[in-house]
Amino acid sequence: MTKVAIVTGGSSGIGLAICKVFLKDGDFEVYNLDVRPFVENIGSKAHYIQCDVTSFNSVHEAVEAVRISTNQRIDVLVSNAGIHYSAILTETPEAVFDRVMAINVKGAYAVSHAVLPTMVAARSGVVVFVGSDQCFVGKPGQFAYNMSKAALASITRTTALDYAQYGIRANAVCPGTIDTPLFRKAVDGYIERTGVGRERAYKEEDECQPLGRVGRPEEVADFVFFLASEKAGFITGSLHPIDGGYTAQ
Ligand code: NDP
Repeated sequence: MTKVAIVTGGSSGIGLAICKVFLKDGDFEVYNLDVRPFVENIGSKAHYIQCDVTSFNSVHEAVEAVRISTNQRIDVLVSNAGIHYSAILTETPEAVFDRVMAINVKGAYAVSHAVLPTMVAARSGVVVFVGSDQCFVGKPGQFAYNMSKAALASITRTTALDYAQYGIRANAVCPGTIDTPLFRKAVDGYIERTGVGRERAYKEEDECQPLGRVGRPEEVADFVFFLASEKAGFITGSLHPIDGGYTAQ
């Protein structure tokens, strides 16, 4: 029977790869809740709903629209939408701090708040949060982003514990550096701040990974798909690095 997955931030990068893997490897209708639409046609089972995850109402309306079109069915939620910002604490403007928290943390809360009652009623469901290697480690110069991803570690564990009794599993994937538009924007910022050459900047990114390269969005998406599957039926409350060994150092 066709299942239903909701992915936030599914129009780009890791979220787009997640939408694609659910369509290719599973029998899913996929609903992408993002501020902007897909830039490519990924098939008739991919649906876009305009949604800003910082708005509690926008998220609830979008999830209600999914419920109406799926006859109240939601099997999988992937809370993925996120932004990155590089600055130490004293150079992080209040508005930026609020924005990072609003998208990365409140967004995860809002979409879980909207979806979980449907899963509770069904006595089943899987939530996957897209965290970061910063769920485990702090990286210098990324104060607000570090904080937001540390919060996601807690959201993951708490959701797993509170909803296990309803047959719902919650886990996080914790990507290291993955080649997406977000990553490229971060590298552009680094180039601007330091004046280092483009080629050198990308080489440095590769060189600080134990595997000697940054990751691909599909390498995260495949693991999200596994976590959402019955093969991961005894896995909940855990955080899974997909970082080429970065956090093993
Ligand atoms: P991208 O910027 O490529 O994709 C993120 C998507 O989310 C974009 O379509 C973006 O739209 C959308 N989005 C942004 N704000 C909102 C919002 N308020 N409501 C709904 N959608 C929104 O990023 P990645 O694919 O790289 O990142 C996805 C997740 O993976 C994030 O949570 C990120 O923190 C995490 N991650 C990424 C890593 C990496 O190296 N790439 C490493 C570790 C974690 P728009 O482009 O218009 O802003």
